[in-house]
Amino acid sequence: MRLLVTLRQRGVTDARVLTAIERTDRAAFVSETFAARAYDDVPLPIASGQTISQPSVVGQMTTALNVQPRDKVLEVGTGTGYQAAILSHLARRVYTVERHRALARLATEAHGRLGLTNITVITGDGSYGLPEQAPFDRILVTAAAEDPPGPLLAQLRVGGSMVVPVGVSDHMQQLVIVRRTESGYDYDDLNMPVRFVPLVEGVELG
Ligand code: SAH
Repeated sequence: MRLLVTLRQRGVTDARVLTAIERTDRAAFVSETFAARAYDDVPLPIASGQTISQPSVVGQMTTALNVQPRDKVLEVGTGTGYQAAILSHLARRVYTVERHRALARLATEAHGRLGLTNITVITGDGSYGLPEQAPFDRILVTAAAEDPPGPLLAQLRVGGSMVVPVGVSDHMQQLVIVRRTESGYDYDDLNMPVRFVPLVEGVELG
């Protein structure tokens, strides 16, 4: 697959991550208009004025998250559900929260069509996490935060980790990995500049 060659060239080399990407048809997550570009390594427009992430960024973030087969994972910022679908091949269970109801619906439909049964899409403000399903082994935030949100830190299992783009919106952000230990939290900058839309408060019905 052409996309996989590009991803390897761009530094995504983890075999499990590449296999999960190979098993996830990105065309299922974009509209007809952009189907021809689904296998290019570029972000593309989706409904509600949002974007589907660039595959190499998805690959790098997924690699950094180091998901294990028994893991319960939370994603914040579903979009049309592409990243969640990739996580579903690596984890036991994926919960993903999206503030735009229209996008949450599209994601649920796409996962249904692809037969992915271990993902639950929830409409809500993901910066509060999902207390009723906590703790999570892994948390992936796919919208930019000025600081890792406190409720998400609290919902991380001891020994677990969270990857989050940190920085001011409209600028490049840095990917940060937060690991929860017995005594607190360790923060590491992954030295990967990314550009995500900001985490926005509240829910949109459109
Ligand atoms: N993960 C997606 C891309 C996400 S783009 C993919 O696989 O392609 C970022 C998404 O985060 C947008 O859809 C936006 O609506 C959503 N978002 C922004 N703030 C949010 C919040 N507080 N809670 C949940 N979703 C949020």
